[in-house]
Amino acid sequence: MRPGRSIHDVYYRRSVAFAITPDEELRPALARLGVRIQDVRTVLLTHLHTDHAGGLGHLAHSAVWVSASEWRLARGWGGALRGYVTHHWPEGLAPRFYDFSGPPLGPFARTCVITKARDVVVVPTPGHTPGHVSVIVRIDDVRYFLAGDASYTEAALRVRVADGVTFFPRAAVRTLDRIAAYARTEPTVYLPTHDPRSVARLRAAEILVADGGSP
Ligand SMILES: [Zn+2]
Repeated sequence: MRPGRSIHDVYYRRSVAFAITPDEELRPALARLGVRIQDVRTVLLTHLHTDHAGGLGHLAHSAVWVSASEWRLARGWGGALRGYVTHHWPEGLAPRFYDFSGPPLGPFARTCVITKARDVVVVPTPGHTPGHVSVIVRIDDVRYFLAGDASYTEAALRVRVADGVTFFPRAAVRTLDRIAAYARTEPTVYLPTHDPRSVARLRAAEILVADGGSP
């Protein structure tokens, strides 16, 4: 191991193999969407795994939100042992914590309302990690459900399988039940981060047809 590289660099390189090319870094990726990185004022994190939070170093100017329990679990030696990689974060990162005192939203008993227009709402979706959250964005009549790693694919939601790296599978399945129940009452586009079809579903505003199951 080279000096300056932690055991977790090696762990992630070997077990969660992914490589970010310079072109895939946050700045050029946002530029392709017509967004200047300096205009990003707010970052809503679903959780702190490095494939979701590793770009925070580019966003030192932004207000970063995360759940308090996720923050607690990710920090210090305990966080390192749980596989969180924190050295890409801006020095002195002091996130804001979601305050889940908002009104219930369908099957979600607790919510954190982010915008005055109430069109961006964060809901707890534990399972993949205990403090995992999802972000629901309302545009016109459609709800875009930014699911992070609540499941890795829409298919896993349909069959209620806790897929991928999930530390609390029972909680993850209860979360999927809740998401499906929500999608039965609102026109919802389901967008897990790692689903290869998420971009196409977003572009087409493809509504999830959720099946039965307990709410
Ligand atoms: Zn994750």
